Amino acid sequence: MAFQIPLFSKPDPGPRLVEGDPPFLLVRRPRRRGWSLKVLPDGQVRLTGPRGLGPAEARRVVDGQRAWIRRRLLHYQDLRERFPPRRWESGGRLHLLGQDLVLETEEMPGRGGVEQRGEFLHVRLPPGLSPLDRGTWIQARLAAWCRARAAEALAQRVALFSARMGLKPKGLRVKDTRSLWGSSSRSGNLNFNWRLAMAPAAVMDYVVVHELCHLVRHDHSPAFWALVEKEMPDYKQHRTWLRKNGEGLYL
Ligand SMILES: [Zn+2]
Repeated sequence: MAFQIPLFSKPDPGPRLVEGDPPFLLVRRPRRRGWSLKVLPDGQVRLTGPRGLGPAEARRVVDGQRAWIRRRLLHYQDLRERFPPRRWESGGRLHLLGQDLVLETEEMPGRGGVEQRGEFLHVRLPPGLSPLDRGTWIQARLAAWCRARAAEALAQRVALFSARMGLKPKGLRVKDTRSLWGSSSRSGNLNFNWRLAMAPAAVMDYVVVHELCHLVRHDHSPAFWALVEKEMPDYKQHRTWLRKNGEGLYL
């Protein structure tokens, strides 16, 4: 007996590469109304639209956004030049909390671990991993280690600035959030992204001050920015650094 697929659950057309300049990936979603265009950090252009969006119409949409696409592509190219892909091996480098650290890996039976020895980050890993697993293993361990260091440093900076500003935050959490550097709740809890530990120290301080000021003003009004400026007169350069380079902390 033939299995009939009911009409109302017509399968998704699936992603489709549309050739041309620039080539792009067309993704169609049944419930989607309008379209959205994305340039990914690796340079891929992706257009998401409703099920009925055909390649010719999709091409017109993309062509209409050429200038924007070009700007995004240049932005990522520039980021890749300034933040070369990390090497998860001996000799790889990592900037953490104002220090330039060099990775040193060593295979050793027993429990693996990460330890800082001066400017070296020593990573012990179990023997016999495939090259790919080694990279993943080192990356995961280092991320956990960096996150713990970030939590310590952020707690210190929050204590310092809140004392100076006469504020009393309730709690502090360090998270792994995509493109959110910090947030604060009305109840007085602060959240920070651990990747700030890979930014220059003054940039991390700027985000700390920014979130602390939100305990006083929950908006981005001129009065809020005046508070930030009072505590950190040169905050604008740190805010600019984060806008320009923030994505590089994810590479
Ligand atoms: Zn804010």
